[in-house]
Amino acid sequence: MESLSCKRCGAPLSVDPESLIAVCDYCGYPNIIGGDFSSEHVSIIPSKTREVVENKFIEVVKKDPQLSKIEDIEVLEISGAYFPAWYTTIIRANVRASWYTTVIEERNNRVITRRVLQHEERTISRKIFLPARRRIPSEPVLNALASYTVKKAESISPTREDFDWEKIKLEFLGVEIGRQEALRILTDKFIDSLREEYKSRGEQLDFFSASIVKVEEPVLLYVPVWTISYTAHDSVYLAVFDGYDLTCLYRSEPLTSLERIAGFSLGLALSSLSGPIFAATASLTGFETSLLFLGLLATAGYTITKSAMASARVENA
Ligand SMILES: [Zn+2]
Repeated sequence: MESLSCKRCGAPLSVDPESLIAVCDYCGYPNIIGGDFSSEHVSIIPSKTREVVENKFIEVVKKDPQLSKIEDIEVLEISGAYFPAWYTTIIRANVRASWYTTVIEERNNRVITRRVLQHEERTISRKIFLPARRRIPSEPVLNALASYTVKKAESISPTREDFDWEKIKLEFLGVEIGRQEALRILTDKFIDSLREEYKSRGEQLDFFSASIVKVEEPVLLYVPVWTISYTAHDSVYLAVFDGYDLTCLYRSEPLTSLERIAGFSLGLALSSLSGPIFAATASLTGFETSLLFLGLLATAGYTITKSAMASARVENA
């Protein structure tokens, strides 16, 4: 084990050789350690403190027409974690494709159909991201990762120095997909999603070729997400918050006692986001944006399932 000290307070760091971030036991500062990771390629989104998150939750409860009527709401547990994701920009890719579409026309009072070959050649740029874990977070967390990797990340300059890390001390979830692998997956999925895009334009793809000319070095981004489990009328619910701007990413609606069992299926439903890789697009000034998700096990889904089964206890998101 290497002996390292905290960049901010100088205290010795206990370093797990597998981890990329060592949170100082004394001051809470997240030190970037290990491997080929320079601070330049790691971005940590600052988080609000546990207390602020809890206050926000109370505010949400007060403003909610249904929840505000319930008197016995009790917070069971508040847990937060940093979720890692890789993101990069395909600066330039060249695409050439042709495909068949069917055109229906009326000629001399007769309806005729004919196949037309369409063709397109263009260059594109796109922002893409990939959760850096094989066990993938739930949909709300994925949405948070997506919003930072394609929209917010550039508008936030995470200056780790002037931040209240003592009060945060969030766990940094491990990175299970390294930089090279991430880059390979991201570029493969990018090309696959383009192919699908052209496929969906007509009945049959006649020709498709795409080559990536220039791609940015991937950045490892950590996004803070807080999960609050609470009881109301003896049932357990969850609320998930974005740690940076306190957006409520997910909230389970009050359920009847019968629906408690359904919480189990809801949990499974969130988890079953797993398996298929899906792509969504959003527009951004000057860019075409594509978000690539690798869905595996959904953490919040898992949490809900567990809470429904145990009725009370909820584990970390
Ligand atoms: Zn320190």
